[in-house]
Amino acid sequence: MDLETVREVVLARDRADLAQLDAGSAVLAGGTFLFSEPHDHLDRLIDITALGWAPLRAHADGLEIAATCTLAELAGAAPGRELGSALLRPDWPGTALFAQACRALLASHKIWRTATVGGNVCLSLPAGAVLGALVALDATAVIWPRGGGERRIPLRDFVTGPGENILATGAVVRSFLVPTASLLARTSFRKIALAPLGRSGAVVMGRRTADGRCAITVTAATTRPVVLEFAAVPADFEVAAALAELEPDVWFDDPHGAPDWRAHVTALLAAEVAAELGEAA
Ligand SMILES: Cc1cc2nc3c(=O)[nH]c(=O)nc-3n(C[C@H](O)[C@H](O)[C@H](O)COP(=O)(O)OP(=O)(O)OC[C@H]3O[C@@H](n4cnc5c(N)ncnc54)[C@H](O)[C@@H]3O)c2cc1C
Repeated sequence: MDLETVREVVLARDRADLAQLDAGSAVLAGGTFLFSEPHDHLDRLIDITALGWAPLRAHADGLEIAATCTLAELAGAAPGRELGSALLRPDWPGTALFAQACRALLASHKIWRTATVGGNVCLSLPAGAVLGALVALDATAVIWPRGGGERRIPLRDFVTGPGENILATGAVVRSFLVPTASLLARTSFRKIALAPLGRSGAVVMGRRTADGRCAITVTAATTRPVVLEFAAVPADFEVAAALAELEPDVWFDDPHGAPDWRAHVTALLAAEVAAELGEAA
């Protein structure tokens, strides 16, 4: 849709162009959310897609995913492989979560080719399954504050509530760093929705690293991604006990699922995820 209050779209070519971000302007990435509803407080968009950031870069200590990486690139989608690849690289089993998370979004291939990983994270919706997958893989967010420099925070601490996060005015998310241990981890994924093609009611993702430690991440069912950590593959009663300790108001309430239903199905899915993490490799 047209954003009728927007007077200027700046195509950022380098970091200096991002200094124009203020309370009346917004970062424009894929625009799949920004152009989907009115934003009458905005008069300027700063398009970050021409900054030339490599979408995916392998480092000695892990994988760097640019904020502008599209969902199609993250999922390893290609003509004839529109639903993505099972793994981004055969030696990175942890990347199984990438295409699975992209498929959890209620979105077409057209959206996949445009929507970005950074946009999904910064939108910070409970149904942000790509955000959830990166939290499940213990990613770090690299943030460019408006005044310069760089800030790194665990992505699990980024979202503070539905559609809310710690980004200050003018700050831009540059990338996400997924550590090698997570890329090599065994993972498990479960999703449930009220309708076959409905928005996710609950998404549960598990990670088991080589040292035996496990993390179970809950999203869609909760107001923000929630990580439960265990020293080893948890038994059903341990998963149930960890979930029971969560604040009651963490369970999200919208037309895609009532809080009590979400809490109930999350417990079932989390037990399945734990069981799968415990299976012999
Ligand atoms: C049909 C359809 C289905 C969808 N389904 C889902 C769904 O199931 N789950 C879900 O979570 N979303 C969904 N969305 C919303 C949205 O498309 C996705 O979240 C997408 O990943 C957003 O990415 P984008 O690049 O298009 O973001 P944009 O629309 O460009 O931006 C989204 C927000 O993030 C900010 N932003 C973007 N990048 C950065 C950055 N690097 N640094 C700082 N701020 C930034 C923008 O200013 C804006 O506020 C859906 C959208 C459509 C149209």
